Amino acid sequence: MAVFLCPHCAHREVGSERTEGHQPRGCAKCGFGFLFEMMDDYYAGPLTALVCCDRQLRVLAAGHAAMPVTGWPEGGMIGQDVVEALHLRFPSAADDPVAKVMEWGVRVQGEPCTFRPRGMVEDRDAVVDLFPAYDDDGGMLVALTPVTKG
Ligand SMILES: [Zn+2]
Repeated sequence: MAVFLCPHCAHREVGSERTEGHQPRGCAKCGFGFLFEMMDDYYAGPLTALVCCDRQLRVLAAGHAAMPVTGWPEGGMIGQDVVEALHLRFPSAADDPVAKVMEWGVRVQGEPCTFRPRGMVEDRDAVVDLFPAYDDDGGMLVALTPVTKG
């Protein structure tokens, strides 16, 4: 059953809860304009930053936990290349997970990565889940969760 995740507040709706309509409906909880469709259920943690991008990897929406995690002000990341804006790097990956998602339309889960919060000079460890979009616009949802050392 498809699950719909709100990039803004991480509210989830399973497919059967969504009423049929001619137009796609936004988030029932916060009113955000669109929900991201996923094939499997997914719970974003409290510190999981959700960032949606289009087929060209340009940021469409930076929502849930994105500001505290990434340091970007609300709306500041929109239109930028998501990989560069987050300074996402994949030290252990044999191939580029972003390219894999975009080219093959597969989900990448729990991939170790580093990112650099805006204005910081050091990278932080994190894990990232990458979800391909299934609508005609293509694109991807990035769910970035910082790893706390200790
Ligand atoms: Zn919402």
